[in-house]
Amino acid sequence: MPSLDDFARSKLAALDGALLRRRLAETVREDGLWVRRNGRRLLSFSCNDYLNLTHHPQVKAASIAAVERYGAGAGASRLVSGNHPLYAELETRLARWKGTESACVFGSGYLANAGIIPVLAGEDDLLLADELSHACLWAGARLSRARVMTFRHNDIGHLEALLAAHRGDHAHTLIVTDGVFSMDGDLAPLRELSALARRYDAWLMVDDAHGLGVPGDGAKAEIDLQMGTLSKALGSYGGYLCAAQAVIDLVRTRARTLIYSTGLPPASVAAAIAALDIIEADPELAARPLAKAQSFTRACGLPLAQSPIVPIVLGEASAALYASRRLEEEGFLVVAIRPPTVPAGTARLRLAFSAGHPDDEIARLAECVRTLVPRP
Ligand SMILES: *Cc1c(COP(=O)(O)O)cnc(C)c1O
Repeated sequence: MPSLDDFARSKLAALDGALLRRRLAETVREDGLWVRRNGRRLLSFSCNDYLNLTHHPQVKAASIAAVERYGAGAGASRLVSGNHPLYAELETRLARWKGTESACVFGSGYLANAGIIPVLAGEDDLLLADELSHACLWAGARLSRARVMTFRHNDIGHLEALLAAHRGDHAHTLIVTDGVFSMDGDLAPLRELSALARRYDAWLMVDDAHGLGVPGDGAKAEIDLQMGTLSKALGSYGGYLCAAQAVIDLVRTRARTLIYSTGLPPASVAAAIAALDIIEADPELAARPLAKAQSFTRACGLPLAQSPIVPIVLGEASAALYASRRLEEEGFLVVAIRPPTVPAGTARLRLAFSAGHPDDEIARLAECVRTLVPRP
């Protein structure tokens, strides 16, 4: 198969040349904060484990108990025989948490978006997406075969212009956006988006994968489709959609990524339920990551953080890789984010703050960042 090898090698050489090749680095997460990598212990600012629940004793115990009771795997798709009893409990809890009639759990957030969008939009429909929407919203958009148009990031005026010009030509219109933007940490204007959706008879779908621990106005906005993940603040694995009963019933019977993919391991579902128990019992916990991020942005003289995610845009991939290496020498894991995850010329450090990050370490990180990236 020499032509296939040649193909792969020349692709890799081009990526190497542009400093855009990615490699897997073995990482041992010791707890919700510290990792071991390349023989060193580092404080991680590159995990989405905002509440440090991946290693919480109650979450781990629930996971282990589920393995003992229901086994390691689900055995089949949820629609065949993989719908173990923990699913109903989790879906009820998620719906109550988000204030919707019902919920449906998927294998991951990516699978959720790739499955939901094609159920709701087809060839005759229009899909309007914020230009910084997460990769899996684009995957769902492509699979839907709807006409896809992008609006400028958080630009309500641009979205309204697109609706005014094109809404009438399509049977249905779906607006999709991240709630908290995963690489920028800023928030979508949900109330304005939902008002616009109502006005133009469009449906609004918000990907709230990073939404927990953020004082956004999402709760007050009318959002038809609230999608999210179990894999970030909840410390487990899986994705979900919260919506009206009829919508969930339709998704359950039509979403290909639900029908043709095996159900989640029972341990993942049990862990997510245990994580919800912890969050509901301690309402202040979810506010802590944002407070930590804001203490960092204050110390660094950066714009005040709107979410636990703080980007430090450096431009070229080489600059981001260099800064990341220097921080690693100082004992911090801050992974460089490069195109195509972010637009060309905006390679960056992306810091994710969690409830448990020690304040003295945040202060030391701020000092290192200030030396590394002098502010004008
Ligand atoms: C991480 C993420 C996803 C994917 O969720 P997984 O459960 O990890 O597949 C979807 N959307 C956004 C905005 C994300 O940040």
